[in-house]
Amino acid sequence: MAKKDYYEILEVKKTDSEETIKKNYKKLALKYHPDKASEDKKKEYEEKFKEINEAYTTLSDKEKKRKYDMGGSGGFTQDSSSRGRQGGFSDIFEDLLRGSGFHGGFQEEQEDLDLHYQITIEFTEAVFGCEKELSIKKDIPCKTCNGTGSKDNKFETCKTCNGQGRINKTQTTPWGTMRRTVTCNECNGEGKITKDKCKNCNGSGTENSKEKIKIKIPKGIDNGQTIRVRGAGNASKNNQTGDLFLEIQVKPHKIFKRDGFDIYIKFPVTFARAALGGEISIPTLTKEVKVKLAKGTESGAILRLKEHGIPFINNPYQTGDQFVEIKVETPKKLSKAQIKLFKELEKLDEES
Ligand SMILES: [Zn+2]
Ligand SMILES: [Zn+2]
Repeated sequence: MAKKDYYEILEVKKTDSEETIKKNYKKLALKYHPDKASEDKKKEYEEKFKEINEAYTTLSDKEKKRKYDMGGSGGFTQDSSSRGRQGGFSDIFEDLLRGSGFHGGFQEEQEDLDLHYQITIEFTEAVFGCEKELSIKKDIPCKTCNGTGSKDNKFETCKTCNGQGRINKTQTTPWGTMRRTVTCNECNGEGKITKDKCKNCNGSGTENSKEKIKIKIPKGIDNGQTIRVRGAGNASKNNQTGDLFLEIQVKPHKIFKRDGFDIYIKFPVTFARAALGGEISIPTLTKEVKVKLAKGTESGAILRLKEHGIPFINNPYQTGDQFVEIKVETPKKLSKAQIKLFKELEKLDEES
């Protein structure tokens, strides 16, 4: 892939100041924001938007910029720490989204109800799938008030927003005056206020709880993949629930290595077996498989056992392969009888 010119992407010169780069980034990010694209241009805008962000991630970071100027790549995709979690990039980015109102209406102020957990499973559990019980701490709807936050379930209309739950706000931003609608703080967007708060949850409508949840992990899952369990996240006052994201960590196996849905192993054979060929018995994920080794097999030869790999996660009818690398072992300890035979072999080698 050709290296992208980040300066070109941001329409700046190498000598331009931080300020100019920032200004151009804002301008371009705003121009190419995917939310602004018409249906047929969406893909193009998305690509462009990504490119702009990638360029800015590098050029806004002194250290990354220095490396890039010296000829290194931006490293945006590999280096997860550069994904805008820290530093100027994220600040501006969030500014941008907020200020411009791109995120539309009220979503931006919605509470994040999603939960993130991690679980470590055995190699074979990942291959064949499994069920795991997970203990999680989360907010559930308050049992005393059924999530309403009210002691007696009596409410009156919020005066701040006149029961609308939203209020209009005018804001001055670098791009001009923006009018936007935000959630009413007084009633948290509900448009009503309880006279008597529930004592158990102090009106929040939720309580913290330790829950056990059973999760089915599909066969074929790989290290680092995430399972999303809809509705298993935190609850909020209006009985809304977030999702649970479970990241799967897979322990390495003693002999099997995995790449995608294929399995790799190294299999030792003796000198004699390699030279003479014959049947060998190779471990696979499910059983031992007998394979005929050709005469004169060399160390490093690869055998392919079709469909002895890992089942495809989204396709039960497809399975990866197993690749077996033959390792011819040179004997280190020899018995007297073996020494005698090897010496005879050597003599024959010299004669031929
Ligand atoms: Zn309550
Ligand atoms: Zn209100």
